[in-house]
Amino acid sequence: MTSNVNFLAKAGLQTLIDNLVSLGYECIGPQVRDHAIVYDVITNIADLPVGIIDIQSPGQYRLEQTGDKNYFRWNNGPQAIKPLVFKPEEPIWSCQKSPDGNLRFEKNMISVKKRAVIGVRACDIAALFLQDKHFLHDHNKDEYYRDRRQELLLIAANCTKSAATCFCNSTGDGPRAHYGYDISLTELADGLLVHTLSEQGENVIKELELRTASQEELAEADSLINEAAEQQRSLPSHNLKDMLFSKLKDARWQQIAERCLSCGNCTSVCPTCFCHSENEKPAMNGEVSQHTRQWDSCFSQEHSYIHGITIRSETQYRYRQWLTHKFGSWHDQYGRCGCVGCGRCISWCPVGIDVTEELNAFANGA
Ligand code: SF4
Ligand code: SF4
Repeated sequence: MTSNVNFLAKAGLQTLIDNLVSLGYECIGPQVRDHAIVYDVITNIADLPVGIIDIQSPGQYRLEQTGDKNYFRWNNGPQAIKPLVFKPEEPIWSCQKSPDGNLRFEKNMISVKKRAVIGVRACDIAALFLQDKHFLHDHNKDEYYRDRRQELLLIAANCTKSAATCFCNSTGDGPRAHYGYDISLTELADGLLVHTLSEQGENVIKELELRTASQEELAEADSLINEAAEQQRSLPSHNLKDMLFSKLKDARWQQIAERCLSCGNCTSVCPTCFCHSENEKPAMNGEVSQHTRQWDSCFSQEHSYIHGITIRSETQYRYRQWLTHKFGSWHDQYGRCGCVGCGRCISWCPVGIDVTEELNAFANGA
């Protein structure tokens, strides 16, 4: 990031939000809710998590107020931007019984707003591109996803600190955003470096009071981001696909299953998981039924139910499915690993199962 990088004083963030609103965007930004950082509608910089950092480790997540004036020193909370494009639960169509006894089917129509998301991390942008590969496949585009996705304007925040659970440097997805954003921000002590990659991004920043960033400011940004990369844990350097498929009968799967609760938290917080199920919700009077789609998990018993048989009846097979899909067969399906190193599945696993520890143990034959 060396060409056309500008400097914005921190107070200018409010003008950025105001510009977005005047251009018709609903502004979504990070904020503290229920002791975690989540994304929701934001109109004022006072709502941003100023001075907040997170402390994360396997099975642990908590916030701390440092008293400093940084808006973006936190790392990912439980919620990615996935729910903005792929809803946890959504009606797809409904069926109504007409007075003449015929059934009338109606597609659920959605109205989509222009949305700008502030503070998106490099790993979550990479995850969004993975979701695109799934939902915007050439021959079979999901209209709900497509309509929401095309109205998203992304304002990235490069990570200047990593949580102890992060490993995006290992998957090649962070901590600096290289693609997929409209505007990127890198927060320094007294301002933000601003870079744009799209015309829409240019349009948003053109009213801001910017000046060209100095060489010292660019060097400060590089040094902070490099430091964030150095703070991370890492994946084994092996070919994980071949390694995992050579371990399908390993005793370690059962050892993991003795700890794993099959709760599905890891798949709920994962920004790349896309599995879902569809269900009918009939009204009590039997006149109407709503067909809904909701997030599902390879850890649920029903997920592998096919014609009277549950294929993965034991937890060890569900964990194996999750790991071998994410780090193995995803390469065949989508041309890359299905993990972007956000670390959420580590922090939000109630028993602290750590995907990097498991992969390292399999790779090293432990
Ligand atoms: S597998 Fe874990 S670390 Fe990788 S993208 Fe999903 S939640 Fe993040
Ligand atoms: S690995 Fe952890 S989060 Fe995932 S299903 Fe097992 S206990 Fe739940």
